[in-house]
Amino acid sequence: MTRSIRNLVIVLGDQLDAGSAAFDGFDPAQDAVAMAEVREETDYVPQHKARIVLFLAAMRHFRDDLCGKGIDVRYTALDDPANRGSHRAEFARLARQAKPERLIVCEPGDWRVLENLRALADDLSLPLDVVPDRHFLCSTDDFAAFAEGRRGFVMETFYRWNRGRLGLLMDGRDPVGGRWNFDTENRKSFGRDGPGHIKAPRRFTPDDTTAEVVRLVDRLFPDAPGRSDLFDLPVTRAQALAALRDFVEHRLEGFGRYQDAMATGHPYLYHARLSTALNLHLIHPREVVDAAIAAYEAGGAPIESVEGFVRQIVGWREFVRGVYWREMPSYAERNALSADLPMPRFMWTGETDMNCARQSVGQLVDHAYAHHIQRLMVLGLHALLLGVRPLDVHRWHISMYADAVDWVSLPNTLGMSQHADGGLVGTKPYCASGAYISRMSDYCRGCRFDPRKAEGEDACPFTTLYWDFLARHRGRFHDNQRMTMQIRNLDRRDGGEVAAIRRRADALKSDFTKESYP
Ligand code: SF4
Repeated sequence: MTRSIRNLVIVLGDQLDAGSAAFDGFDPAQDAVAMAEVREETDYVPQHKARIVLFLAAMRHFRDDLCGKGIDVRYTALDDPANRGSHRAEFARLARQAKPERLIVCEPGDWRVLENLRALADDLSLPLDVVPDRHFLCSTDDFAAFAEGRRGFVMETFYRWNRGRLGLLMDGRDPVGGRWNFDTENRKSFGRDGPGHIKAPRRFTPDDTTAEVVRLVDRLFPDAPGRSDLFDLPVTRAQALAALRDFVEHRLEGFGRYQDAMATGHPYLYHARLSTALNLHLIHPREVVDAAIAAYEAGGAPIESVEGFVRQIVGWREFVRGVYWREMPSYAERNALSADLPMPRFMWTGETDMNCARQSVGQLVDHAYAHHIQRLMVLGLHALLLGVRPLDVHRWHISMYADAVDWVSLPNTLGMSQHADGGLVGTKPYCASGAYISRMSDYCRGCRFDPRKAEGEDACPFTTLYWDFLARHRGRFHDNQRMTMQIRNLDRRDGGEVAAIRRRADALKSDFTKESYP
């Protein structure tokens, strides 16, 4: 006899937290869990093999943990012949079998998914409880209170507000170390000698469950971008905690100083590589910042590293989530700079003469990862200068990065990187020439282009496109105080020279975009 179900708790692939509010009051005798691997999520953009492996492997491990606690989990595998292929259809099938009195889901990380679940509840004429996501340190209501009455959202203001009210790295009302911001100490590059030995992040060799998922992904997605055979990301909470300990012990100390540096052959440098574990909710941001602060208090890491790290989690990560839920769904449509070109093919393959882009995409292909400055100041910068459609940049980011989830990707790509929101999350565009990449990396030494040149056969495409970008958008940015120097430098250039640069930029644009990937 089938038992009657009170609550059917829907758990999505980025909600793998047994402490989630969706489990409040969960009674294994009356309630059940529904989880589904669906082609809608693997196919809405073409996805890196490692990204699909990550989600499915982590979901299966979470399912097994719940089952081990005696919880009834209704789980659909991707290749199950009965799988209906979308959240709406598959959860409807599972719910029709379970016949629950109510559906419960924690706030999803994707506006599109929330809409689909609401439609599902309508289809079934069932109540749907969308419970708050306690994973975040700042709830959507908290963010609304912060934003109330403000004309714009400045991350720095939010960060101070959030850190202060949470009492993190605070000495009464003042920041520990006497300053909120250690950016001036945190912009170092490695120089001619390179980074030396830095202990690489701990690897997690696939167990039987993950290895089975790797075989499944290789079979179902033979033409997907990226590699699955190097997969080594944490897929369980225990592994996520081990990854956190490894970061705090071996890399946190140098994180701040070198957070903007890049080096050939060093995909991780001092970075944490915790973003996938965080974004799948295997680990809580409070655990992460508490571990970093404890290291500071024990003398194991300097204030500039710990503050820089806390800023990423308590400031930036929470800020973009607040912006996402406040501004969606119209946010996804913004295109303040009227960018209209497609994403160049090399962004998926790494096949380009530009060494900085080849190295950064090469890492992406291997590991579905590039650290934030490679994202912002190499690949994002290229798309910005070229004028790629912002939503395409977001879709590419979701496609290629294992840690990209809609709430974090959209404000970071469309807003911060592409300035398509007109300055909502960043008061100026992150535009720079090849000189920036030359200063912060060793990439230019191995490149056939010259970062100082904007014209000629060996001119750096970033430098050519940088001057073209400034000239193209001069009217928009000439009274932006944070761009005064850049506009002044443009105006100092000879008119004929700028015209020649712009002709070369046009040729580059048609060359870069003559082939796109999907
Ligand atoms: Fe990149 Fe230009 Fe440097 Fe080459 S010269 S690595 S294209 S910034």
